[in-house]
Amino acid sequence: MSPQQDQQAEVVEVLVVGAGQAGVATSEHLSDNGVPHLVLERERIAERWRTGRWDSLVANGPAWHDRFPGLEFPDVDPDGFATKDQVAAYFEAYAEKIAAPIRTGVEVTSVTRHEGRPGFRVETSDGVLDARFVVAATGPFQRPVFPPIVPAGPASPLQIHSSDYRNPDQLPEGAVLVVGAGSSGVQIADELQRSGRQVFLSVGPHDRPPRSYRGRDFCWWLGVLGLWDLETPAAGAEHVTIAVSGARGGHTVDFRALAEQGVRLVGMTERYDDGVLHFRTDLADNIAAGDANLLALLDQADEWVQRNGADLPEEPEARVLGPDPASVTDPLLELDLAAAGVTSIVWATGFATDYSWLPAGALDESGRPRHRRGVSAEPGIYFVGLPWLSRRGSSFIWGVWHDAKHIAGHIATQRSYLTYQAPTA
Ligand SMILES: Cc1cc2nc3c(=O)[nH]c(=O)nc-3n(C[C@H](O)[C@H](O)[C@H](O)COP(=O)(O)OP(=O)(O)OC[C@H]3O[C@@H](n4cnc5c(N)ncnc54)[C@H](O)[C@@H]3O)c2cc1C
Repeated sequence: MSPQQDQQAEVVEVLVVGAGQAGVATSEHLSDNGVPHLVLERERIAERWRTGRWDSLVANGPAWHDRFPGLEFPDVDPDGFATKDQVAAYFEAYAEKIAAPIRTGVEVTSVTRHEGRPGFRVETSDGVLDARFVVAATGPFQRPVFPPIVPAGPASPLQIHSSDYRNPDQLPEGAVLVVGAGSSGVQIADELQRSGRQVFLSVGPHDRPPRSYRGRDFCWWLGVLGLWDLETPAAGAEHVTIAVSGARGGHTVDFRALAEQGVRLVGMTERYDDGVLHFRTDLADNIAAGDANLLALLDQADEWVQRNGADLPEEPEARVLGPDPASVTDPLLELDLAAAGVTSIVWATGFATDYSWLPAGALDESGRPRHRRGVSAEPGIYFVGLPWLSRRGSSFIWGVWHDAKHIAGHIATQRSYLTYQAPTA
């Protein structure tokens, strides 16, 4: 595209793509730095909180924690857990409060670097823009992924990803296999079992912090212990599935309690042969590693109390785990789906990113962002909201606000160099 043709394009200094929490936070910090910008959102503000999650979902962290510093939840007890609709309303109110320049219903389809001049040509569903800087705020969880273990076919169970799960009534009658024991998998399995379904839950490695300990929520403990601030670990070691729940007022995810309730625990789902699913023999190890993670956090919390002389009540019962359930001591290694009446599989197996619309220089050979703390290897492109962008908390509500501040500051600094005028003699 020639510079001539680009002269037709709307010119924006900074284009932020996406108006979830990451885009709203970026807009706030750009405004604070006096940087003109536009946010384009293909659907509505905080769309994923509105329509990308199941009906009964509440925030995993308490309202005092899972929010931006500039606004409290108006209608949620600070120690309570906001519903997904309250979270969406919160970000809409926040965008209004900061007068974020958001244009909804516009999708960004490609960003290409100009030749011979700075900035990018941005193609959207509503025309072409010319942007000096582009911030990708399109979310940590863009493309649902699940392994192609069970072939689709008329005789196969219904298979959906957790992002398409809404409520138990959506699934055909019968038993359900939920694959994945992070926060989504355990909450969906719990809800399905409570609705009267027979549920099998395939449990992989996970962390399971206590919901609260010695009177403080785990979000507080991760904060004072510096664990939210853990810096980006080595590539490949960054994904920790964390099993927590704010459902029913919040509780510690406890696989023994789930088993007692009637959920049949199984190991990682490995392969499928002729109607039969095979599970790994790792269930006991995964449960034991999750227990060790819980106990390690209690140890760290106790040390912190000791060191700081804090007046927090002791809670020895938090260390009582109880005996392993039969599904752990006598693990089910095979499941004949038809014989067990399994009519649905819910894959709570995570998400991938999709940045195929960005210039190739911003991505590595696998299509993953090349960046340092959100500053892309492709100058002028930025990322916010990625897991572990700068720290463990980066993809969560409170964490993205701090990362967005860094990115807006970086852009402001770049602009100050670019607008420098040498003094005239
Ligand atoms: C089930 C679940 C529960 C969670 N619970 C919590 C919680 O309790 N607390 C917490 O802190 N975190 C939670 N998270 C993690 C995180 O807070 C959310 O995933 C959050 O939605 C991420 O915000 P984001 O702005 O980075 O991305 P998103 O919310 O995904 O927003 C990205 C936006 O970009 C738009 N977009 C995408 N592509 C384009 C394009 N090409 N052009 C224009 N617009 C585009 C999308 O429509 C979307 O609105 C949860 C995540 C999941 C999956």
